[in-house]
Amino acid sequence: MKTKCLECDGDIELPEDAIVGEIVTCPDCGLDYEVSKVTPKGVSLKKAEEIGEDWGE
Ligand SMILES: [Zn+2]
Repeated sequence: MKTKCLECDGDIELPEDAIVGEIVTCPDCGLDYEVSKVTPKGVSLKKAEEIGEDWGE
């Protein structure tokens, strides 16, 4: 299935068995999103950076 990037409106491919909490990356702008909701119609995303985890260097 597919969803839209919130930032650049590009198509993001998702596995059929996507689960809440899964991290997906927009192939167009490179932003990371976390799957926040899964419904039969599709999924909702939120920006992964809002989680506040710091993977910094
Ligand atoms: Zn994007």
